[in-house]
Amino acid sequence: MSRIVMKFGGTSVADLDRIRNVAGRVKREAEAGNEVAVVVSAMAGVTNTLVKYCQDLSPLHDAREYDAVVATGEQVTAGLLAIALQEMGVEARSWQGWQIPLKTDGAHGKARIASIAADELVRRMQLGHVAVVAGFQGIGPDNRVTTLGRGGSDTSAVALAAALKADRCDIYTDVDGVYTTDPRIVARARKLTHIAYEEMLELASVGAKVLQTRSVELAMKERVRVQVLSSFGNADGGDLPGTMVVDEDEIVEQEVVSGIAYSRDEAKVTVRRVPDRPGIAAAIFGPLSEASVNVDMIVQNISADGTTDMTFTLGRTDLARAQATLDAHRAEIGYQDLLVDPDVAKISVVGVGMRSHAGVANTMFKALAGKGINIQVISTSEIKVSVLIAAEYTELAVRALHTAYGLDG
Ligand code: ADP
Ligand code: ASP
Ligand code: MG
Repeated sequence: MSRIVMKFGGTSVADLDRIRNVAGRVKREAEAGNEVAVVVSAMAGVTNTLVKYCQDLSPLHDAREYDAVVATGEQVTAGLLAIALQEMGVEARSWQGWQIPLKTDGAHGKARIASIAADELVRRMQLGHVAVVAGFQGIGPDNRVTTLGRGGSDTSAVALAAALKADRCDIYTDVDGVYTTDPRIVARARKLTHIAYEEMLELASVGAKVLQTRSVELAMKERVRVQVLSSFGNADGGDLPGTMVVDEDEIVEQEVVSGIAYSRDEAKVTVRRVPDRPGIAAAIFGPLSEASVNVDMIVQNISADGTTDMTFTLGRTDLARAQATLDAHRAEIGYQDLLVDPDVAKISVVGVGMRSHAGVANTMFKALAGKGINIQVISTSEIKVSVLIAAEYTELAVRALHTAYGLDG
């Protein structure tokens, strides 16, 4: 007997038939004698619709009210799955974040989990009751509903697995594992049987949406055994083997580059002709940070006439707030104008093998040059190289790199 957390994403609960399919999988685990907690996302597309409602009413909407709106999607699926389970004769009840309670900090829209009270859930699971938990949501210090950032149900699941001291956290999704790159873009992408926490963390943080970054961070810290697998399984309803996220030393054959990711959620801002003086970076990025704008890549050009250009990238959803913030601080910063480009994509290659191999970045630059793709910004870490390019070349770039690093299956 094991204690397991099963998480089902939006496509897996997209309609009532799929919710019944999920209920069947949960029932099998429960009937095998396991203690089961399930975490669900909103039905496919629902969160996007809710986010758009908020944006259409006000681009700079109140983040607390945004949370009140977008958290509702998961409440619906949790209730529906509990009903589907009861209909199959499985004792189940739904739990919203505040009922557990799953407490978070007060960063509405991108809250971090502070604590999960597990005792009551454990007591009921030991009685054989399935706990169906609404993912993505918690309750903040202001006693209001919070959400954990897009894709946050993964983090709900891993955090719950840690709090319940679960034996496994199975993330069921619409692909059957983690691939060398998004299999929807590159048909020759290969499924990985194992991936190192660190690589998964890096891939997630540069755009591989299969797991939310924080969920990997948490799994690594709390030693949660995470597996990514398909919620559709094989014909007899059993699970197909997925991908295990493991320690680096558990992987026998380590490639130099193990994965390629892209993000189309980026925007580029250039602050033109700022005075080239000590403190200018702080003058620009201080107010942005206070406005909760996360900046990613940064380049500062050399100055010819005492002024310079500062270019940076950020999440596209933060663009309006960043522009408003820079406008409000224009006098202190003293810039001439702002150039904004939302049509950019970040392409990254990731692999722990890079630590001990030279020439990885050069392979990337040559492959992109070979396709005539211009690189706008470059950034690197110990196990990653990222470039910013025009969004229209995203797929071409990912495919070219997948071939260049010998990853094609
Ligand atoms: P869920 O709704 O189940 O949380 P997501 O859409 O968040 O599912 O994540 C699964 C998607 O992640 C896949 O459909 C796939 O298009 C995308 N993806 C991106 N990179 C990868 C990768 N390296 N391996 C597998 N899937 C990936
Ligand atoms: N429903 C939320 C989203 O679409 C959370 C999740 O699916 O993980 O971002
Ligand atoms: Mg997801």
